[in-house]
Amino acid sequence: MFKRLLIANRGEIALRIIRACRELDIAPVCVYSQADAGAPWLEQADQSLCIGPGPSKDSYLRIDRIIAAAEVGRADAIHPGYGFLSENSHFAEVCRDSGFEFVGPSPEAMHLLGDKVNCKRLARQAGTPVFPGTDGGIEDIEEAVKVAAEIGYPVIVKAAGGGGGRGMRIARDETGLREGIEAARQEAAAAFGNPMVYVEKYLEHARHFEVQVIGDKHGHAVHLFERDCSSQRRHQKLIEEAPAPGVDHAKRLKVCEASAELIRQAKYAGAATCEFLMDRDQNFYMLEVNTRVQVEHPISEAITGIDIVKTGIRVAAGEPLPMKQSDISINGHAIELRVNAEDPARNFMPQAGLIETFVPPGGMGIRVDTHARAGYRIPANYDSMIGKLIVHAPDRETCIKRCLQALREFKIGPMRSTLPLYERLLQEAPFVEATHDIKWVERLQDADRKK
Ligand code: ADP
Repeated sequence: MFKRLLIANRGEIALRIIRACRELDIAPVCVYSQADAGAPWLEQADQSLCIGPGPSKDSYLRIDRIIAAAEVGRADAIHPGYGFLSENSHFAEVCRDSGFEFVGPSPEAMHLLGDKVNCKRLARQAGTPVFPGTDGGIEDIEEAVKVAAEIGYPVIVKAAGGGGGRGMRIARDETGLREGIEAARQEAAAAFGNPMVYVEKYLEHARHFEVQVIGDKHGHAVHLFERDCSSQRRHQKLIEEAPAPGVDHAKRLKVCEASAELIRQAKYAGAATCEFLMDRDQNFYMLEVNTRVQVEHPISEAITGIDIVKTGIRVAAGEPLPMKQSDISINGHAIELRVNAEDPARNFMPQAGLIETFVPPGGMGIRVDTHARAGYRIPANYDSMIGKLIVHAPDRETCIKRCLQALREFKIGPMRSTLPLYERLLQEAPFVEATHDIKWVERLQDADRKK
């Protein structure tokens, strides 16, 4: 096992990784930017090294400085967390070439699954359901027009190297498709340096269904069932739950098993998430694979009892997976609410500044993963997520009630947060009845605006 692990991240995920390190007797080493000097999680590290000024591009995204810090900190491994450099296969390669174990997949596996066209091709071979559409990137527009006519409009044009919802165009007819391909190509070339785009069927009413998988370096992979993340705004997840409510168990098992098979075939070691959209008839279509630990991993930990971050470190150190698929089952229901310092009434405007009041909830089944506390100043440089409330209960109904009480107890001020919004969303009929889809929060807010 590793002796010292460098955490190339900040905030709640840095603290989450520190906690996992302690249980594995690994000394955690942190890096921080000048904007994070004196931040609460750094107190918990054995050593903390400053890697530059506040802007991410000058610190948390600087590969050279992170590698230098790993050398100074005598680390033998580097954990990228999520965001920042976590899905950068070049970074994974530099870590390996510099003699540090990267806690995550090999650069090859990351590249294979990270590119959407490659990933879709492999998924088809592994029997993972994908959207009907062009086989690979579009070389010839006439071919794309033919495929779109076969699968039927609407279709969506997407960038092979895309991310963050960019480089996508919805087309409702042939003219729209021709224009969409041109526009998406230009946007993708400018944003990702790769103009390759492809076409797939566009789903009007979809739920977001994602499978947590984890593989080791010995060719084993298991799934930890799924999460439903349909409560989003502009492709940003707000509420996640596990398992997905109302899904047929045989269909669930099929897609979960196909996801594990996909990462097995990609020779993938570490935690990953296979993201799908699910239509009203519970057909699944793969969107992409995220080659890292995700923000919402704790709800899968809650229902399976498996520590995903610790397991990820273990497999990076070469240990075989400590569990078989038959050891893993679903226990109860879990919901995660992202605590964002944002004002939902003002288009989710980020709220930086000093936290004066911070009173987290407690009680049975309540977990709060946060780096925040009263007296902590939220820097303006980074993501506005200051924590996560994770609630576990024997069933969904109790879980929602437990969430609502936790929200009543949770006090944050003076800045606004997403907490009051959740009190409302959790009681709205589409969520309670699980008839919601990925556009439901936006529809609700549009309706509010018209009132
Ligand atoms: P990114 O990597 O940019 O996040 P994704 O492929 O994950 O791109 O898609 C982002 C979001 O776009 C999805 O969560 C969904 O809301 C929407 N989307 C993508 N593909 C489709 C599709 N075929 N049909 C309907 N919506 C889609």
